[in-house]
Amino acid sequence: MNILLVGAGLSGAVIGRTLAEAGHHCRVIDSRSHPGGNCHTERDADTGVMMHVYGPHIFHTDDAGVWDYVTRFADFVPFQNRVKTTSGGAVHSLPINLLTINQFFGRTLRPDEARAFLETKADTSIADPQNFEEQALRFVGRDLYEAFFKGYTEKQWGCSPTELPASILKRLPVRFNYDDNYFFHRFQGMPRDGYTAMVRAILDHPGITTDLDTPYDPAMAGECDHVFWSGPLDGFFGYGLGRLGYRTLDFERFDHDGDYQGCAVMNYGDREVPYTRITEHKHFSPWETHEKSVCYREYSRAAGPDDIPYYPIRLVREKALLEDYVRLARNTPGVTFVGRLGTYRYLDMDVTIREALDTAAAFLDGAAQGRRPGAFVHAPL
Ligand code: UDP
Repeated sequence: MNILLVGAGLSGAVIGRTLAEAGHHCRVIDSRSHPGGNCHTERDADTGVMMHVYGPHIFHTDDAGVWDYVTRFADFVPFQNRVKTTSGGAVHSLPINLLTINQFFGRTLRPDEARAFLETKADTSIADPQNFEEQALRFVGRDLYEAFFKGYTEKQWGCSPTELPASILKRLPVRFNYDDNYFFHRFQGMPRDGYTAMVRAILDHPGITTDLDTPYDPAMAGECDHVFWSGPLDGFFGYGLGRLGYRTLDFERFDHDGDYQGCAVMNYGDREVPYTRITEHKHFSPWETHEKSVCYREYSRAAGPDDIPYYPIRLVREKALLEDYVRLARNTPGVTFVGRLGTYRYLDMDVTIREALDTAAAFLDGAAQGRRPGAFVHAPL
């Protein structure tokens, strides 16, 4: 079959590779001049630092199949993300761990004491947290919530944490030991030569043609047997029902001689500081040595029509509109909607790859049984 994959990010590359290995002809197009989607990395010409151009990406997974897959295409260097946060004139360790609790409250608690102590701070009247704020108040209490989560989340999402789902906070654990590894997955690392080199390697197959600087044109669908769409779900339909909400990010670059902040990611919990965090990119490649440093101040705001969409918002309005688009997508035979933008979900890289592998396998199964695959979208919410 002739397959068109719109978007040369992780979804398009992994699906394209799987189908090409099974003997199909795949054309991967991307309107950008590089593959890799938002995990694109590029060496800075001035400093030689490997930049995470669209913000930091740290690979972590518990899925051994996904880890085997990525390590087939890139050499991974072990990397653990150790995030700090500046709040109220002090620096603390994230995710909230025993050091954070002891330093924040000026205590010397052991693990079981800290657990009991935090229970006294927690709002135990909240049995079933309905939103981000309730989740935080229930599990860490008001002091830690206001220092580390409230202001940051207002800046990141542009709304009150009471309007956000509890699931967003569930991404962050609370630890009653001194483990300050931001992620708790078995496999964690950084591709030695960056994510773009890895995606290029995935795309490097005789059955795949990659055309960059090539926007999608609806006429292209007529020239192939099936389309995998990893662009914005609403974009496929020309935004006909309205636009799904996204947050976009502005990165304000600044250079520094030496080491600016001593870590890769410094969050800023105070509402008055306009940015959410500063990332210092040479610390994402600690096996390299660079005298000079490049940092990004990261600002979050509502995405306009010409902005790069980063985080799907998924508040009530978006949920209703999303359901309408999902209905349209289900009635669009010959197109499969994949990835963060195609399914309008907050996806980590490993989940994106797992879903791409599964989607491609399901497609091949269907094709082997002579079924013409119809539209497919993941359960939206
Ligand atoms: N968050 C916060 N304070 C922090 C870090 C995260 O309040 O210092 C909240 C914020 O709402 C964020 C969510 O926790 O959207 C998930 O954080 P994560 O680090 O997973 O965000 P991402 O990696 O997507 O930037």
